[in-house]
Amino acid sequence: MTSSPLIIDGKVVSAALLERVQREAEALRAAHGINPGLAVVLVGDDPASASYVRSKGKMCERLGFLSRTERREATISQEELLDLVRELNEDPAIHGILVQSPLPRHIDAHAVVEAIDYRKDVDGFHPNNVGRLTIGMSALEPCTPAGVLEMLVHYGIETSGRRTVIVGRSNIVGKPLAVMMMQRRPGGDAIVTVAHSAARDLGAITREAEILVAAIGRPRFITAEMVREGAVVIDVGINRIDDPNSPKGSRVVGDVDYEDVFSKVSAITPVPGGVGLMTIAMLMQNTVKAARSAANGGE
Ligand code: NAP
Repeated sequence: MTSSPLIIDGKVVSAALLERVQREAEALRAAHGINPGLAVVLVGDDPASASYVRSKGKMCERLGFLSRTERREATISQEELLDLVRELNEDPAIHGILVQSPLPRHIDAHAVVEAIDYRKDVDGFHPNNVGRLTIGMSALEPCTPAGVLEMLVHYGIETSGRRTVIVGRSNIVGKPLAVMMMQRRPGGDAIVTVAHSAARDLGAITREAEILVAAIGRPRFITAEMVREGAVVIDVGINRIDDPNSPKGSRVVGDVDYEDVFSKVSAITPVPGGVGLMTIAMLMQNTVKAARSAANGGE
């Protein structure tokens, strides 16, 4: 590419989305006297999880949502955790429930997600929501993939009929994103390939991509030689690496080698400042959506 690529700015897109969420929440308060409420369950004392949970609480405060954090010791039993989830399911002031991962090894994470009332599953991980999303019914959608589509739509990036390669097949990013991008919808209708660690020649696959999404969890893994000239690159990765020049001794980088691919691509998301900011904004959007469904009697 001769000119600089478009920087797909997570600050801009998340701010626009949060404004919309704010307006939707105000409309809900005015019409139904309902304030969206989000409960976050934090098990154990993992500092990264605690920090994610704090940011979610702060974002709720900023939007005037009811926010509840339920902290439990890592020794909590499966049954006690399921009881807590059931209690939140029954609480009419709570419209969204999120159980922060990772959970301790003795807890069956699938069982916990399944115990959440799917109408309050603002992470979009419940099998009902996954199934509904897959067959094109209205669903609470997983936040990170939904954030990626929001970014593509915001910047008017054409996805219909375009060759899209997603590297990563996790249940929280790669797999639902593939489903969403193949559907006929804004940010979708793409021709989607999903690659993963069994790929024999990953570069040959990624070089086909007009839109390349990296959701791998390996710092700066995607280099210029793996990217097609003029591609749109979406970097979902959040990896902390050592950096003696930073005051903290570390910094965050994506799954894409940003500097390396920069002059070759037509558009790219930075890390930090890209997809990461969308995830929490989408969580707020899902909380309002769940509150609105509750106000309208369920579905
Ligand atoms: P994950 O569950 O570890 O999945 C990683 C995927 O990458 C797997 O499908 C894996 O393949 C594939 N992979 C790993 N090494 C590979 C290789 N050498 N070649 C090809 N594929 C390879 O990770 P995740 O939860 O999806 O997260 C991915 C990244 O996104 C992480 O950096 C995470 O921190 C970040 N993330 C960001 C946000 C956000 O808000 N922006 C949210 C969630 C996650 P296999 O399936 O074959 O093992």
